[in-house]
Amino acid sequence: MTDAQIIDGKTLSEALRAEVAAEVAELRRAHGLQPGLAVVLVGQDAASEIYVRAKGEHSRAAGMHSVTHRLPADASQHELLALVADLNADPLIHGILVQLPLPKGLDERQVLAAIDPDKDVDGLHVVNAGRLASGQPALTPCTPLGCMIMLRETLGDLGGRRAVVVGRSVLVGRPVAQLLLQADCTVTIAHSRTRDLQAVCREADILVAAVGRPRMIKASWIKPGATVIDVGINRVPFDDPEKAAQGKTKVVGDVAFKEALGVAGHITPVPGGVGLMTVACLLKNTVTAAKRIAGIED
Ligand code: NAP
Repeated sequence: MTDAQIIDGKTLSEALRAEVAAEVAELRRAHGLQPGLAVVLVGQDAASEIYVRAKGEHSRAAGMHSVTHRLPADASQHELLALVADLNADPLIHGILVQLPLPKGLDERQVLAAIDPDKDVDGLHVVNAGRLASGQPALTPCTPLGCMIMLRETLGDLGGRRAVVVGRSVLVGRPVAQLLLQADCTVTIAHSRTRDLQAVCREADILVAAVGRPRMIKASWIKPGATVIDVGINRVPFDDPEKAAQGKTKVVGDVAFKEALGVAGHITPVPGGVGLMTVACLLKNTVTAAKRIAGIED
């Protein structure tokens, strides 16, 4: 069997960002509407800094109004909620994203619940989770949305396919399973208590891995020709003992990529796959939110 085709996150995310930029330009021209994204960063977590900078740069590059609010690590719950309330009321802002995780002492759930669901571009408000679960138009978490765009670009119509999602988190597993169901797949959600996980995975035409365990899914778990979407981002030591001894690490997915290449039909790499779609989908969600708030048809 020949090697699987790589689903290229770089090409697909660039195309999506270009599509969003064109839509922003058209909204500005035809409606005088500039979609606005506000990102809130509390504290100085190094990884969060990188993500927040990327979100600001990409939203500006797409022609959006973009603001970043930085609060100190010792900001109070009250201060954070007051900022969210201001952004909810700000007519120039259509998307609000509070970068997670929040520093210890802040109540994440209460903050997410305070965001106007119609501006909740991370899709984590229970109202959006409920809308998604009941098949109503929702703002959907960005990574699951990215997975679906990759699948549609690769396979076209997904109807009738067997899909297995490994992982049931609110951020990835559950929403991606809901989206696959909406796309008429027959969906199984697997998790840490699933019996004979390998056999369950082997039934999948579409296998989505969102576990957070490096290279857990082996080639023998994959149905020949299946489409594999690897959401995992795991830091592991380099295979090269010299580099490993220096404490250097690299990023790998939840799928044993090299061996999976010989069995899968299509597969996303890590890095270079799903991760690149996430920010592009945040921009897409911001445009969707702006259009819905302004009453412009999708
Ligand atoms: P999470 O909240 O830790 O959830 C992990 C899920 O995997 C849980 O449902 C857990 O089951 C299940 N699981 C753990 N060990 C398992 C095992 N041995 N067998 C079967 N299922 C197992 O993680 P997450 O937030 O969903 O993230 C998953 C991965 O995606 C992580 O590597 C994360 O870094 C990555 N991620 C990537 C992006 C991106 O942009 N590409 C975005 C978000 C997350 P239980 O529920 O039974 O505990």
